[in-house]
Amino acid sequence: MLPLPNLEVEVPRSLEEALTILARAAAEGRRARVLAGGTDLVPNLKRGQEAPALLVSLAALRGLDGASEAPDGSGALHVGALTRLADVARHPLVRARAAVLARAASLIASPQIREMATLGGNLCLDTRCRHVNQTEFWRDALGNCIKAPGAQAAPPCHVVQGGRRCVASASADLPPVLVALGARVTIASASSPGGRTVELASLYRNDGVAPLTLAAGELLTEVIVPASAWRVAYQKLRARQAIDFPVLGVAVAVDADEAGICRALRVVATGVTPAPRAVAKLDAVAVGKRLDREVVAAIGARCRDGLHPLSTFGDDTEWRRDMIPVLVRRALGELGFGGQA
Ligand SMILES: Cc1cc2nc3c(=O)[nH]c(=O)nc-3n(C[C@H](O)[C@H](O)[C@H](O)COP(=O)(O)OP(=O)(O)OC[C@H]3O[C@@H](n4cnc5c(N)ncnc54)[C@H](O)[C@@H]3O)c2cc1C
Ligand code: SF4
Repeated sequence: MLPLPNLEVEVPRSLEEALTILARAAAEGRRARVLAGGTDLVPNLKRGQEAPALLVSLAALRGLDGASEAPDGSGALHVGALTRLADVARHPLVRARAAVLARAASLIASPQIREMATLGGNLCLDTRCRHVNQTEFWRDALGNCIKAPGAQAAPPCHVVQGGRRCVASASADLPPVLVALGARVTIASASSPGGRTVELASLYRNDGVAPLTLAAGELLTEVIVPASAWRVAYQKLRARQAIDFPVLGVAVAVDADEAGICRALRVVATGVTPAPRAVAKLDAVAVGKRLDREVVAAIGARCRDGLHPLSTFGDDTEWRRDMIPVLVRRALGELGFGGQA
């Protein structure tokens, strides 16, 4: 059993207090980490993957969980950042308005973990790599790397030989689903307690060491899923059908007319790069076409060309790449396209 290191922990009673504590830590140059369900952060702290000066627990905050309809009558769905994944999966409003989000949440980890883990923690999940999600002893024996710097002046990357940038993978299930749904997130800080609302996609950057664009002192308070006619499905690849993180996850969103002709298509993947990855240049293969078996195969091939899984999880990169068109076909099949699920 790995012990937790000694840590300073604050347990604010309100969002305003939490933001004040985070702002003070930022002003003092102290690195603070927000603790939500702790299902990822606590194991990472035990393994010494990071050593923040301060933990700010969100456990005592009220009013940042649950799902509701937008007050402006737009039909958008609002889900609080502290909503437990089990509640995302079973909430009647989420199931009615964004069934794919409820289903994807139900595929995460295990029932016990979903009762602790939060939506905000999932969207802010750290990137993962088999060379860094290890004990300090293990990492030291390997000589550390860019994400786990040891004594070396120019630490290596064990995934990309000669690489100067960490490519640890995005590994959360909900970001690709919510990006495909066109979701936005509200980000609060001491100077803006009500928060600013941005596209979820802009929360991520392609850097395995610092994969979020959140500034020190900011935290996520809410996710907003717009009402839309897009149909969205998610397919997850993992060795076991429970507990495991996705080694590949593909969310497919289709906007089609009544005759089944594609007006627009989005494919967003997790498990491939540090940020959720949207496949480019899909319009030429899909837009204006009926998504029959042949077009679905062409979309799958385009996605395989555009996504290159790295050996961040193991040496199964060719298998993961070959599974891309399979997951795309299954997702489109779930939505009633291509004639086969
Ligand atoms: C055995 C096991 C299996 C797992 N399987 C999966 C899986 O299949 N799919 C998957 O997606 N995940 C999986 N996870 C990871 C994790 O359980 C989930 O991603 C979970 O949603 C994380 O939420 P949390 O509230 O526990 O986050 P925490 O661990 O509390 O935090 C995670 C990160 O997010 C930050 N954070 C949390 N809340 C906020 C906020 N509101 N604003 C800003 N930053 C915030 C924290 O500072 C931390 O950096 C697994 C974990 C375990 C232990
Ligand atoms: S991708 Fe490279 S630098 Fe990043 S954690 Fe893995 S081995 Fe380390």
